[in-house]
Amino acid sequence: MLRKTLKQIRLILSTYPRRHLYLLATGFALMLCIVTFSSMELDSDSSKESLYNQISIVDLDSEVNKDVFIPELIEFKKAEIKRNDSLFSILRRLGVIEKNIITLVNSDTNNLLAQIKVGKILEVEINDSNKVLSLNYIKDFKSGVRAQKTNETYKIEEYELLTEKSLVFKKVEINNSLYADGLREGLPDSVIMDLVYIFGWDIDFIHDIRPGDSYSLIYEEVFVNGEKKLDGDILIAEFLNQNSTHIAIRYKLSNGTSEYFSPEGRNVKKAFLRSPVKFSYISSKYNLKRKHPILHTIRSHNGVDYAAKRGSPVRATGDGTIFFAGVKNGCGNEIEIKHSEDYSTRYCHLQKFSTRIKKGKKVEQGQTIGYVGSSGLATGPHLHYEFHVNGKHTDPLRVKFPNAEPINTGDRKEYIEHANNMLSSLKNYQILTNSLASK
Ligand SMILES: [Zn+2]
Repeated sequence: MLRKTLKQIRLILSTYPRRHLYLLATGFALMLCIVTFSSMELDSDSSKESLYNQISIVDLDSEVNKDVFIPELIEFKKAEIKRNDSLFSILRRLGVIEKNIITLVNSDTNNLLAQIKVGKILEVEINDSNKVLSLNYIKDFKSGVRAQKTNETYKIEEYELLTEKSLVFKKVEINNSLYADGLREGLPDSVIMDLVYIFGWDIDFIHDIRPGDSYSLIYEEVFVNGEKKLDGDILIAEFLNQNSTHIAIRYKLSNGTSEYFSPEGRNVKKAFLRSPVKFSYISSKYNLKRKHPILHTIRSHNGVDYAAKRGSPVRATGDGTIFFAGVKNGCGNEIEIKHSEDYSTRYCHLQKFSTRIKKGKKVEQGQTIGYVGSSGLATGPHLHYEFHVNGKHTDPLRVKFPNAEPINTGDRKEYIEHANNMLSSLKNYQILTNSLASK
């Protein structure tokens, strides 16, 4: 087909006189020239560029070339945010030029970097002309604010990294102390303290614990990119204390808050904390096998003694009003709190009172009211604590506390389902661990 048309063209051309053919060829060449030049005209910039490129390739040692080929020096800097720091003062300290900081601050239209907090970390990448290329304000292990240079401004946005959780089961038998035995089984400090908090309304960890008591729990570990970042919340815990069993299950209520409840839906929180001195102030010295000399007198004088280091905080065990704050002979510096018509508590031998503790002042459960001392008749620094019901001395370790509100009716049905699942999980773990231990 193609051969056929070429043959036909040749046949037509051969019929023209030679002079006509020359004219036709020149005309064709002329047209080609016009087309080529006009296209060069339109694209003059790129043609100039290619011209320069050609020159620079030849001129390898010139200074212009060094600028083109040496990569920009980028410095990575880190700073901790100090008291009275502003974004401006930190970046000045890191050597960033003022003009650039203003550009950065002006780009922060949503004020994401306006509320930086003391103690948090700021990471910056700075180029060799002291401009910020990127900035990372680290709020916690999984979130922060990032600024990225884009031409003459910055793109600033909050970020949140993906986290993964895994469950850990532990069973601890107490032989020496709840704390030491927990650590030995590999429980993190923070998880033991959470456990003490959760059962702090039911168990006095200083006086109630006996060798052979045990606890088991399931808690979360939080990972970011496969790296453990946090020992998370306890999901369920069981405490076997002198023949009584306490169980607490974490549950997220429909109002968004998380609380601990018994399997039946009673709040673990009660109107009174079992102990007025935090376990953490005593645990290091207190050992089940080595009774403190003061403790053996417990029952003889209507109260409970807590041997703790001088200056350890003493907390109000329940909400109430200061009824007395002053000096009484044997009791020394004393505070008495009236919690209701029926209940009051008394704290003796204090080193001093907290500021703002005066007769008539309202206090909240857990609030520090004073500090352990040895004022009055005391052989050494300790807190003498009394619990009165209807004006009568009552053993603070045995008194039944009024309950806080149980789980609300709206959340109850789903909670019971959740609680049953968690109880089965805990039981399965316990059986599994027992069977592994017996092998
Ligand atoms: Zn006492």
